[in-house]
Amino acid sequence: MFSLFSRGFPPGAPVSPTVQYSKGMEGEFHHHLDENIRPYIDLIDTLRSVGVQNDVSLPTIVVIGDQSSGKSSVLEALSGVALPRGSGIVTRCPLELRLRKVTGVKWKAVLTYRSVKSRPDKHGNNVKKFEFEDSSIVEKHITDAQNELAGKGVGICDELITLEVMSKDVCDLTLIDLPGIVRVPVAGQPEDIGDQIKCLIMKYIQKHETINLVVVPCNIDIATTEALKMAQNVDPEGIRTVAILTKPDLIDKGTEKGILKVVHNKVIHLRKGYTMVKCRGQQQIDDRIPLEEALEEEKEFFQNHDIFRCLLSENKATIKCLAVKLTIDLVDHIKNSLPRLDEQVKKLLWNVRNELKECEGGSPQDPKGAKEFLIKTIKKFNSNVTSISSGELMLEENLLAELRGEFRKWNYTLNQKKSRFNNVKELMKKNRGRELHGFLNYKLFETILQDHVAQLKEPAIDLLHKTNGIINKHLTDMVSRCFRNYPVLQNIAKDKAENIQSSQQYKTEERISEQFDMENVIFTQDPLFLKTLNEITNERYSEEELPLIDKNCKYSQMLETYYEIVAQRLTDQLPLMITNFMLKQTAEMLSIEMLSLVDGANVIKLLFEDTEVSRRRTELRACLGRLTDAQEALNNFI
Ligand code: GDP
Ligand code: MG
Repeated sequence: MFSLFSRGFPPGAPVSPTVQYSKGMEGEFHHHLDENIRPYIDLIDTLRSVGVQNDVSLPTIVVIGDQSSGKSSVLEALSGVALPRGSGIVTRCPLELRLRKVTGVKWKAVLTYRSVKSRPDKHGNNVKKFEFEDSSIVEKHITDAQNELAGKGVGICDELITLEVMSKDVCDLTLIDLPGIVRVPVAGQPEDIGDQIKCLIMKYIQKHETINLVVVPCNIDIATTEALKMAQNVDPEGIRTVAILTKPDLIDKGTEKGILKVVHNKVIHLRKGYTMVKCRGQQQIDDRIPLEEALEEEKEFFQNHDIFRCLLSENKATIKCLAVKLTIDLVDHIKNSLPRLDEQVKKLLWNVRNELKECEGGSPQDPKGAKEFLIKTIKKFNSNVTSISSGELMLEENLLAELRGEFRKWNYTLNQKKSRFNNVKELMKKNRGRELHGFLNYKLFETILQDHVAQLKEPAIDLLHKTNGIINKHLTDMVSRCFRNYPVLQNIAKDKAENIQSSQQYKTEERISEQFDMENVIFTQDPLFLKTLNEITNERYSEEELPLIDKNCKYSQMLETYYEIVAQRLTDQLPLMITNFMLKQTAEMLSIEMLSLVDGANVIKLLFEDTEVSRRRTELRACLGRLTDAQEALNNFI
């Protein structure tokens, strides 16, 4: 066990680390964190200094409550830094207060925020930074920053203002002050100001990494406190909710016992309990009572209070006690958050590395290097085009598999039309010429077949268009993927692919038409036909010795057999044409045209990079740096 406090906290108080208050330094409180606490705070500091809070949430404390409940006053008392406060809406942007206990240096503060006025520099930064050593100008700097971010007046804004205070007299804590909850907008505020503020608060308190410090004045009914309800909503178990009761000097006489019950956790139970503090009232501020003196006064207030006096020995009152409690809570919280943090950093690193791989390798800027890069990029594209056109297995959907699906449908269409010659008798009756009964009209036989086959032309053209669409989709995807970062190159490749495809489609359509023209000639040497003939006449005929077609021949069977032969021709012929003209030739032509880009055209212009991509790459590289540092810090720690 550790020794606790030189005074104030009795042995056996809640948690263990050594925190000492040294007497004699008037009003200053000042504690030494032992080696069990300091490393955690340092780790989070290190993580923060590498900027990883841009990527993952770090454990922190957020102060929430109604407007004028005393949030800024509590922060002020904890930090020893005078903050803008008073009545009305004073805190209008989230203010992150990083307190760093640093020995051997003068008081120093650094205020930073993302400027909305100045343009970002070439690294995408537009951070304004002020360093100063005079604590009395903190208020002015914060007010100026708020005016710039949220506009002069009563509006609010999401942008974070960060104030880092380095001093020997502060405790190591990071706290965020948020605008207070309001119910009724004042003049100049938008109607939904209440919702805007609640949204902003939610953004912070819902994170698991946040300890929610709920500030409630003693002189209002705690059960109606909106902030407490919000905190309970996001943390029903009360693992990360800490309550603070302010303004004990302003309560109505007679209500003390009821309030004591609240502090004793008997009204609304909170796992982490309540702490009561008394900060500077308006009068004391107006009288310029220093913060240190206010701390002394606070102690006297409790010592002299008939009912609240007991809270001193119970470690449930004063700012000092709160500071210690918060530090301990924060460290506990950091401990609990580490595994999750480690996991998050690992996951992000993985994602960032992958995304970076995608947009990595910007082109060299010198003409020779750029040309080589262009050749390499185009060759890679060409080899991809070749492999999708030849149906080599790729990770993506296979183009040939998709085409084969269409070819099967074509085969199905052909088969469907096979057995549709059953109205032959009708046709013969209608078209009978001068021939005697028993004689067959060969012309009629021909016409029936010609009509029948001609009906296949439309589905054939349909097939061509469908496959063209499929090929186009695959090529366009490939272009987008291979030239992702180069919009000029991408557009050229897309145009080229489309032009080639449309001329190839025209060519193929001609060939299909020719094929159907040829099919107008009824001709076959296919032995299948002879075989059928033999079957239906029960004779053995050969090419040289054909039967006379007579009444014994079953007309419709002959038609079907001939059609079957046509269907067999077409079922392969069209897919072959399409594969050859639409896919193979297109891919070859596109590859040649893309390579020809290398000569002549302005290479640098072709490789013009999407500014969005180069911006993203810069961002990702910075993020990778942060995360790598963070992971190293975590690895060294764990
Ligand atoms: P915030 O809006 O929640 O940040 O509230 P402030 O910290 O600005 O405080 C609002 C007003 O309450 C200020 O005038 C403070 O001086 C006053 N105040 C805060 N805490 C106490 C307290 O413990 N006692 C008294 N009498 N006044 C306080
Ligand atoms: Mg405030």
